[in-house]
Amino acid sequence: MSRGLLWLKWECPPYCINDTLNNLSARVRIVLLVLAAMLPILALTLHNGLRERSAAEEAEREKLSLVAELTAKRPEQLLLHARQLLQAIAANSDELLRDRSSCGDYFRRMALEAEGVFRSLGVILPDGSLHCNSALPDTVKVNVGDRPYFRLALESGQFVVGEFQVGRTSGRSGINFALPVLDAERRVRAVLFAGLNLEKFIEQGQSHHDYPRRTEEGLVTTIYDSGGLVLARYPASEKYMLGKEGPNPFLMEIIGRTRGGVFTAADVEGVRRLYAVEHVGLNPDGIRPIRVVVSKPVDVIWAAADRALLHTVAGIVIVTLLVLLAAWHASEVFVLRRVHALLEVAARIRSGDYSVRSSLGGGREELSRLGEALDLMAQGLQVRDEQLKAMLQQLNEQAITDQLTGLPNRRYLWDRLEAELMRTRRRNAPLSVILFDVDFFKQFNDRWGHEAGDIVLKNIAYAIRRVVRGSDIVARHGGEEFVIVLPEAGEDIARARAEELRREISALRLTFGGEDLGTITVSIGVVSSRNPGDTAEQLVRAADHAMYEAKQAGRDRVVFGSVTSA
Ligand code: GH3
Ligand code: MG
Ligand code: MG
Repeated sequence: MSRGLLWLKWECPPYCINDTLNNLSARVRIVLLVLAAMLPILALTLHNGLRERSAAEEAEREKLSLVAELTAKRPEQLLLHARQLLQAIAANSDELLRDRSSCGDYFRRMALEAEGVFRSLGVILPDGSLHCNSALPDTVKVNVGDRPYFRLALESGQFVVGEFQVGRTSGRSGINFALPVLDAERRVRAVLFAGLNLEKFIEQGQSHHDYPRRTEEGLVTTIYDSGGLVLARYPASEKYMLGKEGPNPFLMEIIGRTRGGVFTAADVEGVRRLYAVEHVGLNPDGIRPIRVVVSKPVDVIWAAADRALLHTVAGIVIVTLLVLLAAWHASEVFVLRRVHALLEVAARIRSGDYSVRSSLGGGREELSRLGEALDLMAQGLQVRDEQLKAMLQQLNEQAITDQLTGLPNRRYLWDRLEAELMRTRRRNAPLSVILFDVDFFKQFNDRWGHEAGDIVLKNIAYAIRRVVRGSDIVARHGGEEFVIVLPEAGEDIARARAEELRREISALRLTFGGEDLGTITVSIGVVSSRNPGDTAEQLVRAADHAMYEAKQAGRDRVVFGSVTSA
């Protein structure tokens, strides 16, 4: 066993046929369905083809029987003719027996009149010696006492038909007919004989108008004598020599056994043929002396049916191929394209693209409905995804936004500051940080309440927004402390911006409950990063330190600090 088979055996448990079926593509399934649908048609066609064959065979049996019957008429007529002739001659038997030389003349004349149908005619005496005949001069002494036709005629006292023989008087082959001439006591006085020319069977047979379609394909007619010797054959064959035994002993045995009828047998070449047999004449010993056999190859008989079957099968195969081609194409157009579109949609939904639509909806057909369901599912997912994203964004914003001032919170500041530091460092640009704290802020809470403190914080946030640019990062660092990051801003710009901020805040005029909250001042620490190694933490710490210095120095001012390595 090859390795492949072993592998198959090992890999393929009993249920693997199911697996194989399950793995077949839709297209292959459709093809299999078409083939399965065509199989019964093919089976029915084959069945019909076989029926046609047997019908053709049945018809041919009848036809062959008829042909055999018609063919048998010729030997029968010859036989009848010979009998009547001999009976007519028998009427003159007295005279013929009396004068031997006029007897010879009589038969010679008769043979001439018969135009070669008989090779010899004459009278035989009961001892077998030839009294007179048409073929030999009377002086020649011939004895035919041993010939079967003579013996049978002598013994039976009736008209008989002999076997094939080469005539002793004529030297030519043929079969003899004999009629005994009886006296008053029914004793045989003489035997009249007529030797039929063998060629006449063929000549007559070939030209006979009762023998329609004699040249029909494969049709063979053979005439045998009672001993199985070939008397005539059409068309001629080397294997069937006239006067010789038929070459197929098996066939001769069947023909000898049957009294006529139709049967199938193989010929000498092994070709199966349908044979029709007809026997002609009946001798007094019960033997039928002439057999007519007509045959035709079974293949030829079936040919029309086989041709029709072949045409039909070819037609079915062509139609099947066309249907397969159409099914192959149609499955692509009507099914597979949609299935692939659906699979593509499913794949895109899986990858998170909920905006995709199959656009297959609108029909009542299953795939359209599936497409519609998929579209609705994608639509639902898209809505929920958008809601989720919005909520997530909100949550994110909430996580990085200070609720009171609306400014980003400390967390956001640290994330952005780190990123901005990296970016400016790459570009070799400066970055400055401003950190400020509201002076004596606690007083606002203490004197007017927490709410007043909140108002101050909100208004400081507005003031910051007015001062900063879009690229600056602002954050409430905690309590009343704020940080502004100025990317790409050096010391001068940072200092100027800090002063501007300080002025903006001190210019605020706020009231609470109708009371003036007074001037709000802030202490501001500013640092600029010059060293590429400065960290966010160092910068903010340095700015905080500068802010503390501003507090120490009397508040409401800007102090410029520097980063000191930790
Ligand atoms: P200094 O000039 O030294 O900074 O004095 P200060 O009073 O501003 O500093 P302090 O640290 O003593 O007080 C800050 C106060 O700010 C304490 C705290 O209750 C108050 N505070 C912090 N966050 C808020 C807030 O969101 N709203 C209000 N109304 N008050 C706040
Ligand atoms: Mg403070
Ligand atoms: Mg303060």
